Amino acid sequence: MSASTSGRVLKGIPASPGIAIGRAFVLSSDSPSVEPEVLNVQDIPSEVARFRTALDATTIELMNAIELARKESSTVISIIESYLLIASDPMMTTSIIDRIQAGFSAESAVLNEFDVHKTILYGAKDPLLRERVQDFEHVMERIIAALRNRTLSHELAGDSVVVSGSITPQDMLFFRQLHTLGYVTEIGGINSHSCILARDFGIPAVIGIRNATEIISSGSIVIVDGFAGIVIVDPESETLNEYISKHREAAEYRERLGALVGQPTRTTDGVELVLKANVDSPDQVDAAIMAGCQGIGLVRTEMLLVRWGRYPTIDEQVAWYRDIAERAYPLPVTFRAFDVGSDKFREGIPHHEENPALGLRGIRFLLYRPDIFQNQILAILRTSANRNVRFMLPMISTLEELEHAKDMIEECKLQLARDGVDFDRSMPLGVMVETPAAALMAPIFASRVDFLSIGTNDLAQYTLATDRTNELVADIFDAMHPAVVRLISMTVKAAHAAGVVVSVCGEMAGHAAATEMLVGIGIHELSVSPPLLLELKHRIRSVSHGDCLDLVKRIEECNTTTEVYAVLGSLKSWREGGDTSV
Ligand code: PEP
Ligand code: MG
Repeated sequence: MSASTSGRVLKGIPASPGIAIGRAFVLSSDSPSVEPEVLNVQDIPSEVARFRTALDATTIELMNAIELARKESSTVISIIESYLLIASDPMMTTSIIDRIQAGFSAESAVLNEFDVHKTILYGAKDPLLRERVQDFEHVMERIIAALRNRTLSHELAGDSVVVSGSITPQDMLFFRQLHTLGYVTEIGGINSHSCILARDFGIPAVIGIRNATEIISSGSIVIVDGFAGIVIVDPESETLNEYISKHREAAEYRERLGALVGQPTRTTDGVELVLKANVDSPDQVDAAIMAGCQGIGLVRTEMLLVRWGRYPTIDEQVAWYRDIAERAYPLPVTFRAFDVGSDKFREGIPHHEENPALGLRGIRFLLYRPDIFQNQILAILRTSANRNVRFMLPMISTLEELEHAKDMIEECKLQLARDGVDFDRSMPLGVMVETPAAALMAPIFASRVDFLSIGTNDLAQYTLATDRTNELVADIFDAMHPAVVRLISMTVKAAHAAGVVVSVCGEMAGHAAATEMLVGIGIHELSVSPPLLLELKHRIRSVSHGDCLDLVKRIEECNTTTEVYAVLGSLKSWREGGDTSV
């Protein structure tokens, strides 16, 4: 790190609230570019030995990484195993040694050899082969890092702040095992699934810091301020102390919130809401219940696929779903059918999609692969024998999709009844309202299901035609846009008219600025990440329903997102969550 970066403040996008202070672990920070260096003949044997040592170190670090991933995700394991295959390819090793023997330094020999393979893959017609370029790039970077005596395992030995170009949901699961303190990325949108996971795990994150992996060096002290969206690199001691106190205050605040666990979620003038939790795994259910949630409003079952890297059998699914349903019992649990596609799990999608968010995603994929859908329905129905299970369909945009899915559920019920298997015949069925079409069709859908749940992340993405994972359009992506708010209001009115429960399970539910608006609009239930439950309850208990109704009338007059925020009297950041007035 150069002196000029000492105490440097980098501005990004706040993606997960909280403060993390720790040493940076920069992924891909080692620029693989090396000057071609010509060796003296007498130096060649030691250079070959240096390369062999680096290759061994890389192999060991990859094997260690597989061990670490074993508890969490088989997808991550298979990714690392493919790295290991590349690193241990004997032909490649021989070729690199030949290059060193021709007089090139180990770094340039590695770089040139990998370049040959990358060029071949780049030229491949098959997009899957082209994607493998990244694997080669990763292994090359790790060998070059090892040649510079910096191995992944050394750097990951302690708790650290991960700095990376981007982070996939798989990476998130892996780094969680390593007790990662915080995340800083160059690209990504706040409602990408990786950021949602960061919030679910309560790990502060700042995204959209251009060239972060070049500006920040591994080992330097960084502060991640997930409220303000800033990262401070090598802070002065005064700043560091200030943040250490903020960190302590945040912990004390969380402790004070603990007093609300058994209290009702009721506005000051007596209107009750139901507070539920979004979970991605059974262990999060315990945290949600300890925080006093009244049910699980969203289980993203596709996270099971991300973890396992494949479609589990019916029995395997039943075991996972039952674990969740039993931990939550007698509270209700809403399992959402696999929302495969887009930036999530893509196994089974037949070919590369130019616009994956508009492609074979959610219910569309499930109807395209009825075998996978049917297995999941059977597994959910078997779990419903607990009598606390609800089922929800993602990405519905047409009535045909809903009716088709309902027919399949009925067929599965008949099959189980024929086989004498116990299940809940009146298991509630709901649809996600996360496309503009679903919001516009809400009166029809509401008359044919038991509940609606508004997915504000995708509703904003599709209404505003703005990729939720793209930081370049992060300013446009905002669920508080009047168009999105109108669609939410329409959906709620439709649910009220049909007499069905309507919830919000998208990220807006936990956004501090949105609470009064959602209460005023008439949402019955809010479902949020477990770390946000008590804070949300605190906010609901501090507002009056009457005031919220007035606020909504003023919001209805707004024509821009800025005007909505002005009425809400807030800045659009996660900072509002930092209220300490319990
Ligand atoms: C949403 O779109 O708001 C939602 C809850 O679903 P996901 O974030 O999993 O796409
Ligand atoms: Mg969605």
